[in-house]
Amino acid sequence: MAKVAINLSTGSLQQEEIIVGIDLGTTNSLVAYIHPDTRHPLAINDQGRGTIVPSIVHFPAGQDPIVGTEAREYLLTDPQNTIYSVKRLLGKSYQDLGTHAADLGYKVIDDNSEGLVKIRVGEKFYSPIELSAEILKELRARAEHALKTPVNKAVITVPAYFNDSQRQATRDAGRLAGLEVLRIVNEPTAAALAYGIGLSPDEEKTVAVYDLGGGTFDISILRIQQGIFEVLSTNGDTYLGGDDLDRAIINHWAGEYQLATVLFQNAEAQQQLRLLAEQAKRHLSTNDSFEAAFGDTRLPLTKAKFNELVQPLVDRTIASCRQALADAKLTQKDLDAVLLVGGSTRVPLVYDSVSAFFQQPANNTLNPDEVVALGAAIQADILAGNRRDVLLLDVTPLTLGIETLGGLMDPIIPRNSKIPTKAGRQYTTSVDGQVNLKISVYQGERDLVKENRKLAEFDLRGIPAMPAGLPKVDVNFILNADGILKVEAIELRSNTRQEVEIKPQYGLTDEQVEQMLMDSLTHAREDVSARMVIEARTVAEQMLYQVERFVAKNGQHLTPEEITQTTAGVDKLKQALTTQDKDTILKAVDELEELTRPFAERVMNISISQAMAGKKIL
Ligand code: AMP
Repeated sequence: MAKVAINLSTGSLQQEEIIVGIDLGTTNSLVAYIHPDTRHPLAINDQGRGTIVPSIVHFPAGQDPIVGTEAREYLLTDPQNTIYSVKRLLGKSYQDLGTHAADLGYKVIDDNSEGLVKIRVGEKFYSPIELSAEILKELRARAEHALKTPVNKAVITVPAYFNDSQRQATRDAGRLAGLEVLRIVNEPTAAALAYGIGLSPDEEKTVAVYDLGGGTFDISILRIQQGIFEVLSTNGDTYLGGDDLDRAIINHWAGEYQLATVLFQNAEAQQQLRLLAEQAKRHLSTNDSFEAAFGDTRLPLTKAKFNELVQPLVDRTIASCRQALADAKLTQKDLDAVLLVGGSTRVPLVYDSVSAFFQQPANNTLNPDEVVALGAAIQADILAGNRRDVLLLDVTPLTLGIETLGGLMDPIIPRNSKIPTKAGRQYTTSVDGQVNLKISVYQGERDLVKENRKLAEFDLRGIPAMPAGLPKVDVNFILNADGILKVEAIELRSNTRQEVEIKPQYGLTDEQVEQMLMDSLTHAREDVSARMVIEARTVAEQMLYQVERFVAKNGQHLTPEEITQTTAGVDKLKQALTTQDKDTILKAVDELEELTRPFAERVMNISISQAMAGKKIL
């Protein structure tokens, strides 16, 4: 039931809008919402039909398409008009599909191999977006029917590895189904939310999400920090899932009981055997042995035999886990939790293998079929503003950045970025042996920091002395949902680190923000020319520093004449620097460079030959 509120200004009753969470899966889809009384996420079970809606669309001749369990019945009797696994085609070209197009029971076509695929059903062509929209329409209808209220907004989940075009296609499918898609959320993120991870702003966790469904396998490693979910790595196999476990059983039975001829001739027998295999697999998740009749043949299967059959498939998933962990540069000990998603994680061998590999019991307390949809519902609730205490999603009104050489603003988080957000960039030192790096944080749209608002300044101290340009300093901006900015600087070679926390909006009124934006527009031209002068000056100062250092170190390899010429060039550049004319400065830079290049090369050759002779350079 939806909550009803009274609008105080009009005195009318208004129904609180429901935003649903949708797991649009390859084999199965679900829709969930937050129950207004319990505040718990709940998968919708309309008219007792179950929460799972198979992602299958059947087109009966001359009638509206049907979706779900009823459509599945036609997979065998009318495969050409029954579309499954459409998620595999979303946002893809025929070229992307490669040989996999031939495996599908329906016709995938394209006249232009780089264009997006279409599917032929009878005389009509459908895009994967339209077909996904049919599934979403069914989910929407079920939600509206069960909740007795219109449903126009949704959060939809996608695999973490989905690219932009696949995400956009998912969004379009939602729109086509009459849903405003408020957010596309990564499936592992949704799973973590369902497990309550990431709901507290101070929480810092690293989790692995192992998702073995009907036809796909994904492993994702996530880091959750201040309500920001960062995907550290993903791995998996888009053609490995529960269907393969079923196939392993079928092959075993077919070999053991000479069923090959029967199966070859009879599509119905194939389907029957497939269903028996799935039944056996499910039964063995909670029992030690299974037996069924297939015509006159008895088909037994023990759990031990089943484990032996599927072990190679499970091993493949574990190899992916190992790779994902390595890509995230983590070890098992760094993980706070391992979450299980997808119906196939009910197989005890899967549970045991995953727990053994990650060296901790995997978490499977939530229904693995529902967990992604439940998490999507929580994200929807957050967006509806019902968990303001948890995460306030907003945008940052002004650009945040740091000062770089010459007083220039280097933007790190551009204005209008959704928050919470995280961004960073790498810097280095400009002087040899520099052990401190001043980091000045600014807010504003102007090119020169002096025109922007300074938020904070701090020193990263204790950088080991190294030649200029060698230290690698990562500066990260973490802007949390409350608009609080944390800036951290880390020197990667020595792992020296420093951080400060800043409230960027503090003290800025809307009018001030507007004024700063106006200023950035009116001063745009001035800013550009000032920026060019500063950049030229920076180049010149770097050049002077390099040349003076070079002469000091390598003076013995230069003739007195060369030294006099260089000194003259240096003086000329210093003179140019007293002007504010970028062309004069750059001309003097070029001249000095011309002058010094020949002996710089000569000294380099001397150093190389010394190194070849086994001596140390410098
Ligand atoms: P999903 O795509 O996440 O809905 O997963 C569906 C897959 O989970 C199918 O291959 C099912 O056969 C499998 N599955 C569901 N329940 C069980 C179970 N109790 N034991 C083993 N596999 C199951």
